[in-house]
Amino acid sequence: MEAQAQDAWEPQRRRMVEEIAALARETRAATGRATLSERLLAAMAKVPRHELVPADQKSAAYANRPLPIGLGQTISQPFIVALMTEFMEVKPGDRVLEIGTGSGYQAAVLAELAGTVYTVEIVEPLAREAARRLAALGYRNVVAKVGDGYQGWPEHAPFDSIMVTAAPREVPQPLIEQLKPGGRLVVPVGGQAAGQELLLIQKQPDGTVTRRTILAVRFVPLIEKSGKQQ
Ligand code: SAH
Repeated sequence: MEAQAQDAWEPQRRRMVEEIAALARETRAATGRATLSERLLAAMAKVPRHELVPADQKSAAYANRPLPIGLGQTISQPFIVALMTEFMEVKPGDRVLEIGTGSGYQAAVLAELAGTVYTVEIVEPLAREAARRLAALGYRNVVAKVGDGYQGWPEHAPFDSIMVTAAPREVPQPLIEQLKPGGRLVVPVGGQAAGQELLLIQKQPDGTVTRRTILAVRFVPLIEKSGKQQ
């Protein structure tokens, strides 16, 4: 029964993956990458996005656009999920950190690719709901907590790669510190009015830090611990 119900969404999921691949080709001048890895596309073709969005958004689950997930938050456009994940270059066995669990969709995509996914969400009801859904879907390699992601998760550092799915004004220094040498951080940086740039920050094996812009993007702001929005 369940397998059948799942299959009903497969054509939509496949179309979503085709759209993602097409957008990757269209944006190659900015991103420098015309193709996404087969491993990533297979993960995106597998994760049941309709099980991670709110019930009233189910029919739009595979549309290539952001969706509201309640409490003023949104789940990123699938293409941006794919692009950010691609730039993390996740390998089997990697320990990765996600800031902004939201619906849990991005965490599920990472869980298909990594060894262990650590994910931090500041809004408690969102964190609770995402953890429940991820467990129900059988993702046992996702470890979630409620907290301020600006601080990362020092107890589990260092990470092979880190992704931030809300926009801080500046790159959070604790996250750079929690990267392994050779590690990669993907983060949208900038204010709400001017929009943001998606950055790839790499900690080189010798510890020096390089950064480059991947694409202009628009994310919800990273909330400061005080509750004030940046
Ligand atoms: N990755 C999510 C989308 C996240 S939207 C998904 O796949 O659904 C951004 C999320 O970041 C929101 O849920 C928001 O509550 C959370 N957030 C904002 N500021 C935060 C902070 N300081 N620490 C952790 N999470 C934060």
